[in-house]
Amino acid sequence: MTTPAPFNPDQSSRSLDALILPAKIRALNFINAAKEAGIELLVTCTYRCPADQSKLYAQGRSAHGPVVTDARAGDSLHQYRVAFDVVPMRNGKPVWGTLAKQDADLWNQVGALGEKYSFEWAGRWKSFREMPHFQYTAGLKLVDFKAGKLPEMGEPLP
Ligand SMILES: [Zn+2]
Repeated sequence: MTTPAPFNPDQSSRSLDALILPAKIRALNFINAAKEAGIELLVTCTYRCPADQSKLYAQGRSAHGPVVTDARAGDSLHQYRVAFDVVPMRNGKPVWGTLAKQDADLWNQVGALGEKYSFEWAGRWKSFREMPHFQYTAGLKLVDFKAGKLPEMGEPLP
């Protein structure tokens, strides 16, 4: 076991250690359950620092590339350490596609599993659907996070 690096608010992360404990424990359990179901999940992002979120928001607006988020700095739950993105792997390669039936089925299986572990899955969002995105809010809204509230551990832990 390696000691987790201290959390740095100016540095984006793809480590589950960057999540607050109630989200981290659920994420670990979710990823383990996926593994038991034969699905390897690759974590691509956990904490996203405000500067990187601003950069992402600019994409497709003032910068090149497709629009990928409607969240400005401060508006993404990645910044409150309760959200993370995953991609399922097949034969050692990430499955980014969601259109082919085989891929859609895989993503839906992953999404449903995440929901079992109390995550909100952005694959169900009506606007800016994000298949890779999971967040643990325990009923809190963005305005609550902005006011400094964070989800409790909650019970029972899955
Ligand atoms: Zn995300």
